[in-house]
Amino acid sequence: MNNRAWGSVASSKHFTYKAEAKRPWSSTSILELLEETRQEFEKLMGPGPDIVIQVEDRICEPNNYGARAEINRQIYSLREHFREIKIICELPTDYGYTEPERDLAYHFFVHELFHCWIGGAVSKPYEPIVEAITQYMTSWMLVHLGWCSEDLFVRERADWQEIVDTENSSYTIIAGYKLLFDQMYTDDAEYLFAFCKDLAGCFHEQRNQEEIDILPVLEHYLETAFESD
Ligand SMILES: [Zn+2]
Repeated sequence: MNNRAWGSVASSKHFTYKAEAKRPWSSTSILELLEETRQEFEKLMGPGPDIVIQVEDRICEPNNYGARAEINRQIYSLREHFREIKIICELPTDYGYTEPERDLAYHFFVHELFHCWIGGAVSKPYEPIVEAITQYMTSWMLVHLGWCSEDLFVRERADWQEIVDTENSSYTIIAGYKLLFDQMYTDDAEYLFAFCKDLAGCFHEQRNQEEIDILPVLEHYLETAFESD
């Protein structure tokens, strides 16, 4: 789909942002959100991509929304150097006027950005861990920087617990890991941050490989969780 009609186009130091629809958020606020979180992710995990990331805010059919990052045109497949990164968020028209919807939209943008540090091709059993840490740290960052209220975490914790208690799906595994990361954060936040930094280090060093080996880092930080699997 190359013939999208962009309603607005704006850019900052590290991002260009194009929106297809009139949204409840302004281009400026999304660029601020991305620049601020990028800076924080750098503090947490080291240098991020040194290219301008293209961000597309597209319209989709109701209930078909989602987000993805295309890194060098291959989703999540990191090559030695970043050449092109596109973050694509798809949301229906009239989306984002309630707080939970706006929170989710912010989550989409920041989540995909986080995948630029942690988010390469890992072997299947570890995919839920990468997804869970990405979701957890995204929400954490949004609350930490004041883009979302503390209520977001209250709502999410209740959701994760409910999923773990009642469902049996791939979401159950992810929710379980998010509860684990939340516990790690409560016990020793610096330890959780060190985990993120070491994971990012794996991706950084092994960026030219087809599959990235994060097992040594997982074993180091999540020893007990791994033994019980
Ligand atoms: Zn993800």
